[in-house]
Amino acid sequence: MFDYLKDVDPQVYKSILREVKRQKTQIELIASENFAPLAVLEAASSPLTNKYAEGYPRARWYGGCQFVDEVEDLARERVKKLFGAEHANVQPHSGTQANMAVMLATLKVGETILAMDLACGGHLSHGHPLNFSGKFYNVIAYGLNRETEPLDYDEIEELALKHKPKLVIAGASAYPRIIDFEKFRKICDKVGALLLVDMAHFAGMVAAGLYPNPTPLADFVTSTTHKTLRGPRAGFILCRKEFAKKIDSAVFPGVQGGPLMHIIAAKAVAFGLAFTDEFKEYQRKILDNARAFANFLEMRGYRIVSGGTDTHLFLVDLRPKNLTGRECADILEKVDITVNKNLIPFDPNPPKITSGIRIGTPAVTTRGMKEKEMEMICDFIDRAVRYRSDSQKLDKIRKEVHELLEKFPLYPEFNGKE
Ligand SMILES: *Cc1c(COP(=O)(O)O)cnc(C)c1O
Repeated sequence: MFDYLKDVDPQVYKSILREVKRQKTQIELIASENFAPLAVLEAASSPLTNKYAEGYPRARWYGGCQFVDEVEDLARERVKKLFGAEHANVQPHSGTQANMAVMLATLKVGETILAMDLACGGHLSHGHPLNFSGKFYNVIAYGLNRETEPLDYDEIEELALKHKPKLVIAGASAYPRIIDFEKFRKICDKVGALLLVDMAHFAGMVAAGLYPNPTPLADFVTSTTHKTLRGPRAGFILCRKEFAKKIDSAVFPGVQGGPLMHIIAAKAVAFGLAFTDEFKEYQRKILDNARAFANFLEMRGYRIVSGGTDTHLFLVDLRPKNLTGRECADILEKVDITVNKNLIPFDPNPPKITSGIRIGTPAVTTRGMKEKEMEMICDFIDRAVRYRSDSQKLDKIRKEVHELLEKFPLYPEFNGKE
């Protein structure tokens, strides 16, 4: 691959090569990342990037859209069927833009949103003060129960009754438990609020039937396509028919111009793959791996936030090891294990330091790893933490990491050398 790029632009080619090599030679544990199949990459790099298609199938502003119409229809029909939705918009360029479109469709500037506190696992686009959502709307944040660390539904209800939000958002970036969508629905009905479920992280597990499907209960569902769903970097929105027009015009011309038709083609491919038994089996293994991984770390004296996980990710509280999240992520980077530092609930440390790390298993599971390899990775992590100031020992661990990765090859088709 990249036969042309290599000659036309050696600088960009070399950087891509280095990045592919990095992906191949480190253990990827960032919960929001994955490795898209080659069929998805092919669609994403196709000449569909050339086509302007502002509007929607059979109602475009430009001519020559008959074939991109086919592609967008396929993507819409597949994602509707996958999640049992009445209407789908597959044009959002990202999860954040999907959320932005729902807010534009439902709220006036200054109206109230009730969403999960970022410090407890919420997302930037759910009301962070530096994000559009925090600047345009009045944001009330709900959190977790301090004792047991699941969502505190009583608190959410109290806040809803007190502040009368127009929109309630459920869904998070670092919440390892199943969210009770029925409880959210009841709270919303009590105060006349609309319910947005952002399933960016766990959409793949919903597609496989391993996580409750929010679509029948929520007014709007937003998602990314590049996390557990293993598609291209993008987003989509699901809603009931009554909101279809509002949502479509909020995406275009509301927050976006022309859709990325090559990326929509790649989304169609990913949605198609999500119907297969292989995909369901893959999601099952992600979950088995996450549970095993959390368990192994717990046995080595790490504290797992909320005591475990129902999903592809979990949070590790590093305080028992006298380590901050930033220190731990830096140590692991030295042995080619990639994680992100993450605030834990009620974290005493600031966001740039944190007391925890977030670990996710979608990417290592895509490489074919199972529980046995999760145990090996736990061992690498634990040894790296213990011997953090011994560079010889760290070098040895790094070698073992590479030996393990060689048994689980990634993208053998990308084999260029500098
Ligand atoms: C990842 C994520 C998003 C959106 O991500 P983008 O980077 O904008 O695609 C939105 N919501 C949640 C909960 C997420 O975890």
